[in-house]
Amino acid sequence: MGIISPTERLLACADPSEPVETGLLTVDLSALVANWRKLASLAGAAECGAVVKADGYGLGLAAVLRALAGAGCRSFFVANLVEGETARALAPDATIYVLDGVAPGCAPRLAAARLRPAIGSIAELEEWAAAGATLGRKLEAAIHFDTGMNRLGFAPEDADAIALRAQAIMPTLVMSHFVSAQLLDSPINDRQIEGFLAVRAHFPGIPASLANSSGVFLPQRPHFDLVRPGYGLYGGNPTPGAENPMRPVARLCARMISVRDLAAGETVGYDGIWTAPGASRVATIGVGYADGLPVSTTGAQGKPAGEAIVGGVRCPFVGRVSMDYVVLDVTDAPKEAARRGEWVELLGETIEVEELAVRAGTIGYEVLTRLGRRFARRYVEP
Ligand SMILES: *Cc1c(COP(=O)(O)O)cnc(C)c1O
Repeated sequence: MGIISPTERLLACADPSEPVETGLLTVDLSALVANWRKLASLAGAAECGAVVKADGYGLGLAAVLRALAGAGCRSFFVANLVEGETARALAPDATIYVLDGVAPGCAPRLAAARLRPAIGSIAELEEWAAAGATLGRKLEAAIHFDTGMNRLGFAPEDADAIALRAQAIMPTLVMSHFVSAQLLDSPINDRQIEGFLAVRAHFPGIPASLANSSGVFLPQRPHFDLVRPGYGLYGGNPTPGAENPMRPVARLCARMISVRDLAAGETVGYDGIWTAPGASRVATIGVGYADGLPVSTTGAQGKPAGEAIVGGVRCPFVGRVSMDYVVLDVTDAPKEAARRGEWVELLGETIEVEELAVRAGTIGYEVLTRLGRRFARRYVEP
C-alpha cells in the first residue's frame, strides 16, 4: 500500500457496478466536511454556516445537508422558499435562512416551514410582521443591508429607521454581502466592512454576518458572528491566483465509447472545425453539453480547448463539444488507457473546477451548478 498514484486513483473511477453509465460524478463528502472544518477554524470564534442554494451548488442538497449537519453545521442558507422547504424536510432542527427574502405572498409558507427570510425591503418586513401577527408571535428573520451590490437589501443610511420597524419581527441576524471579496486588495472590501460596522451598531445584541467563502480569507478578517461560505465548501478556490486551500469535492469521469485512428487532414465533429494535423488517434466520450460541459470548452484559434486526463496524460478536446459527446485527441495517451470502455477524468484533483471554467470562459460556480442530471452520482461518505 502507500501513496496512491494518479493512475490508480483514476482507475478507481471505473467501477463495474456502474457498467451502464457513460458519466460518473463522484461527490466526496469527506472533502466537503474537511473544507467546512477548515473554514470554521479560519473563522475563529465566529459560527460557520453553509450556503447550500442551487441544490448544494449542483452537488445534491440532501447529501450535502446531511454531511454538514452531521459535522456540526447548524445554520444553512438557501435561495428561495422551495429550496427552503426541501431543506427543512431534510434538516428538521437546522436554522435555515432564505436569501431571496419574502417573495410576494410567500410569508405564510415561509413561516410554516420555520424558514428565516433575509428581509431587504419594507414590503417584505410588513408581510413578515403580518404573517407573525396572524400566528400571534414575532417571526425570526435576517435583516439584509446592501453595502454595495445594489441587488438586495436595505440602504445602510436607513439602518436606524429599519431597526425601529424591525421591532415588529424578531431579527436573528444582520447581514450584507461582499461585491468582490476574492480580490484581496480591492478598496471595495474596506468600504463595505466600514459600512457594515456602522449598520450593525444599530442592532446591538443581534449576530452579524458578512463573509462568503472569499471573505473568510480576507486579511481584515471580517468574520463577525457568522460566516456564510458556499463555493469553498464545494472545492472552489476562494483565493483565485493563489493555491487552492480547499480540497476538491466533485470528480467527474466519463467513459470512452469509441476510439479510432485518423489520417492527416480528416476532420472531427460538426462543421469539421478540427483537422488532424497528422496521423491521430481520437476517442469519443459519452458526455456533452447536455451534461453541463460548456460548448465553450471547444477549442478555437488562440483559445485552448478543454482537456481530459487519459492514463495520466492531458488530452485536448477536438472538434465541437456536442450534446452527448466530446472527442479527445488521445494520440499521446498510453495505448492501454485509450481504449473503448476505459474512463477519463474531466474534473478532479488534476483539473480543478477553476481550470475547466477558465477554459470555458466562465466561472467555477457556473460549472458546478450546471453539472448534469444524467450522470450516475456516487457519494463518498464522510
Ligand atoms: C451565494 C451567497 C453566499 C456564498 O458565497 P460563496 O462565494 O459561494 O462562498 C453568501 N452570501 C450570500 C448572500 C450569497 O448569495
